[in-house]
Amino acid sequence: MPVSGLDPYDDANIFARILRGEIPCRKVHEDNWALAFHDIAPQAPTHVLVIPKGRYVSQADFAARAADAEIAGFTRAVATVARMLGLEASGYRTLSNVGIDAGQEVPHYHVHLFGGAKLGRMIQPD
Ligand code: AMP
Repeated sequence: MPVSGLDPYDDANIFARILRGEIPCRKVHEDNWALAFHDIAPQAPTHVLVIPKGRYVSQADFAARAADAEIAGFTRAVATVARMLGLEASGYRTLSNVGIDAGQEVPHYHVHLFGGAKLGRMIQPD
């Protein structure tokens, strides 16, 4: 079922192009389910994006349409990346913007992984 707001999936979005290798990224991790790479405009000492390999516009779309194995694999990949980056002991934050009010800019589901410093309040005023 389509998810309102960002659908249909746009194969020209920047993360789709990164997945196809058309645009470079600073890769951190890749497995069957996910690709992780450094955000181009980091907002913390460590700021990595983890994206699923499938064509999903948002977390809501992923939850609605992805197979259970895909959801499990992707969820584990996020934790794997945090562990690989040495963030488990100090802690980290994951965040996913969905749609307009959250300011989602790229219409391919992604999880932001922030760490490497005290991260402050969850929601900053503009
Ligand atoms: P969002 O606002 O949640 O959609 O986040 C999109 C994120 O993608 C932002 O943090 C951008 O800095 C990041 N971004 C955009 N283009 C690239 C790129 N080519 N490589 C890495 N990160 C990118």
